Amino acid sequence: MRFDNSEQLFARARRLIPGGVNSPVRSFGAVGGTPPFIVSSSGAHVRDADGNEYLDFVGSWGPLILGHAHSAVVEAVQRAAADGTSFGAPTERELELAELITRAMPSIEMLRLVNSGTEAAMSAIRIARAYTGRSKLLKFNGNYHGHADGLLVKAGSGAATYGIPTSAGVPLGYAAETLVAEYNDLASVEAVFDANVNQVAAVIVEPVAGNMGVVAPAEGFLTGLRKLCDDNGALLIFDEVITGFRVAYGGAQERYRIRPDLTCLGKIIGGGLPVGAYGGRAEVMQMVAPLGPAYQAGTLSGNPLATAAGIACLQELSKPGVYETLEALGAQAEAGLRAAGGAAGVPVTVERVGSALTVFFTAPPVTTWVEAASADTGQYTAFFHGLLERGVYVAPSQFEAAFVSLAHTTEDIAFAAEQAREAMASL
Ligand SMILES: *Cc1c(COP(=O)(O)O)cnc(C)c1O
Repeated sequence: MRFDNSEQLFARARRLIPGGVNSPVRSFGAVGGTPPFIVSSSGAHVRDADGNEYLDFVGSWGPLILGHAHSAVVEAVQRAAADGTSFGAPTERELELAELITRAMPSIEMLRLVNSGTEAAMSAIRIARAYTGRSKLLKFNGNYHGHADGLLVKAGSGAATYGIPTSAGVPLGYAAETLVAEYNDLASVEAVFDANVNQVAAVIVEPVAGNMGVVAPAEGFLTGLRKLCDDNGALLIFDEVITGFRVAYGGAQERYRIRPDLTCLGKIIGGGLPVGAYGGRAEVMQMVAPLGPAYQAGTLSGNPLATAAGIACLQELSKPGVYETLEALGAQAEAGLRAAGGAAGVPVTVERVGSALTVFFTAPPVTTWVEAASADTGQYTAFFHGLLERGVYVAPSQFEAAFVSLAHTTEDIAFAAEQAREAMASL
């Protein structure tokens, strides 16, 4: 496989754009080599600037659950564009998207559309603070909620410590408002509450972790969080930017039957265009300006093209049988990866919820960040390049999800499993 054109483009890009990319993981920093520059796509496949074609399991990092360039989405965007790309005034499409979302997730009584998952999480937290009159936030080690200052924090040594910023440029004062507990460890959450009585505004959690690789919630974890929040007067925020319309039409809150106070959405609800949303109990959302005192705004929020794409995407997903198909394709991929590891004698753990999955290069179990972080990233790197050379495109990092879409066929998954078997055999 040749990458001459991508190499030239990457060299040009690196002179103007930090790392040559507009989001760090795209740079292949964790796995090395040149990221293919993508020129076109359709269904489950993408093509690069050198004419190489790949079976894609990145799916733009989650949004493309229908596959690439789905005709319903493309046509909806084209129709909307012909009527104008932005008005800065209300439109019926915003309302339609809001209705689709609130019908899918009954915990969301009111919502705001924004432009990214980062904005959704940042705004939901502001509203939770305004509503509770408290300032501290509890998040989980290994969970990601976008790049707002106070969220770029992971645990220091030991649970229940004050957050240490993971990024330069984050004031220590912001980070100190962020408390960190261990995912799937209720005792660590209780310890944080006990050490910060009446100070925690909200707990924010990825109900299925997706940004440390896929890690499912342990039995009782989400129910326990709901109870701890209620007992301590804190709001429960589900960051469903990945899981919303992915692990069920109504997200993780439907799959695990938990009612959060606030929910953050993004990715799928934009159908591949930039959209986010946050919403929840009406009483809480009434804090948002102009109804209430918490300010939040956006020039392009509720954008006509983005809402058209989002509506088209959710309408496709509301058709019967969609999530059964995704579950079956996901299960086939999981079985294929397990078998590939077994055949090669390589210890792997495959974690999957619906059509999102991760193969960790470590023996089971993977239920916490510490266990996920024990994966052999060197083996993942070799596996990644083995797949890329064989025409299968997965995330260039161990700690990301692979996404199966409705455009993947059982033949596609069988092909990917065969390539995985060969790639693992040559580790
Ligand atoms: C992707 C992601 C975000 C951030 O969304 P952006 O649109 O990239 O800003 C937030 N939370 C979770 C769980 C995500 O996966």
